[in-house]
Amino acid sequence: MKILFKKPLNRYVLLFLLTTLFSGMILLPFTENIIILFAVLSINFIILVVFFQFLFTNYIKPLNKATKTLGEMNKGNFSARFHHSSPNILGELSIKINSLARHLSEFSIQEKIQREQLSTIIENTENGLVLIDEKGYIHLVNRKFLTMYGGGPRNYNGYLYYEVLEHNVYHDTVQQAFLYEKNVKNEFSHYIGIDKFYFEIVGVPVFNNNNNRLKGAILVIHDITEMKKLELMRKDFVANVSHELRTPITSIRGFAETLLDTGLKDTETANEFLKIIYNESDRLQLLIEELLTLSKLEEENFQLVLHQINVEELIKDITTSFQMRAKDKNIDLSIVIEENLEFKADKDKVKQIIVNLLDNAINYTSELGKITLNMTSTKDEVHIKVTDTGIGIDQESIPRIFERFYRVDKARSRNTGGTGLGLAIVKHIVDVHDGKIEIESEVDQGTTVHVYLPKK
Ligand code: ADP
Repeated sequence: MKILFKKPLNRYVLLFLLTTLFSGMILLPFTENIIILFAVLSINFIILVVFFQFLFTNYIKPLNKATKTLGEMNKGNFSARFHHSSPNILGELSIKINSLARHLSEFSIQEKIQREQLSTIIENTENGLVLIDEKGYIHLVNRKFLTMYGGGPRNYNGYLYYEVLEHNVYHDTVQQAFLYEKNVKNEFSHYIGIDKFYFEIVGVPVFNNNNNRLKGAILVIHDITEMKKLELMRKDFVANVSHELRTPITSIRGFAETLLDTGLKDTETANEFLKIIYNESDRLQLLIEELLTLSKLEEENFQLVLHQINVEELIKDITTSFQMRAKDKNIDLSIVIEENLEFKADKDKVKQIIVNLLDNAINYTSELGKITLNMTSTKDEVHIKVTDTGIGIDQESIPRIFERFYRVDKARSRNTGGTGLGLAIVKHIVDVHDGKIEIESEVDQGTTVHVYLPKK
């Protein structure tokens, strides 16, 4: 029937047959004249054809088109339109369908933008993300998560979380989030290659908006390695400071107690003890001063006090004491400075760099050694170079030499009165000047420290 109606010719033939049949059946009892009968039937047929054609053109055909447009929209093609301008119900239908198509098109663009934004955020966040449904199946893992554990989304999506996430902390977090229906936090460590990282994992239960029932959980994993390292450094620092302070204090207390017990009758011993107490308190003072210097350099709002420095004048203040110390140790100390060298920097801090470097050079160079302080400049920077022929530093220790309280030879450093903070201070001063420090050293051959400071 549907096929018959598709072709106009079939339609008319069928119509003619039907009309003839029905009209013939009705008229047959009233007329015997076949011509009249035929004429009536023909007129009948023409009226019906005209009526049907009118119905087809004005209603059936537009309705077909409207159905096709809706079909296209159903497939997601929101640019499909249905135009019918007659003032009847079909005209109204066309306005409604086109407006619906426009709304759906806008809605789909908005939805696409939002989907893309969400996907960009999920993929580019610095946190690992895992989305799990209420049955425990994984629906999403993001790029950060994959960089931690390797594989691709298809190795995780569609699997039960406990089948593919090996770490127990994941199982505990999901189970706790489901059980308590509130955010759960845990910490764990994980190796990526040979490096150990620390992570915090937060399990966030997700609820259905309509009935408030649990529909899954999101696991957010973030890297807390830096924080952990800082925490460790802080603990180490407190332990180191306490240790460094305890040594001179114990010594002072011990000698003071002995003096109190024995009295001051044996003046020679008493003098010796007092000298030790004096030296130890001196060491204590130096340690506290250096700690204060470091903490000032680390202050957030630390400001350099910039002066135009005349290097010759600056060196004059310090050379005398170092020449004397070098002479005492039979060390040849030469100071070579570029003529009329001037630059802008924090005078006291630059002085401290030179003092600390020369101090180390004298402390770690044995008798008959040689030390040179060289200061030259280029257009942009000043180069401070301190070279000694001392004990040198082994290659493994060089990267750690700027850490606070790091000493290659602990006993030797303490004997020289070193606090283990000298190079840490130098490094900080160089950093706040936006400069650069390098060390070259060879055990038993000597050490050269290069400091480059920008000419401001
Ligand atoms: P210290 O007060 O112990 O000298 P520093 O921070 O100045 O502390 O130096 C750290 C460590 O680096 C020293 O304990 C020493 O082992 C090593 N060091 C520094 N400078 C030299 C040098 N010129 N020659 C050999 N070793 C050095």
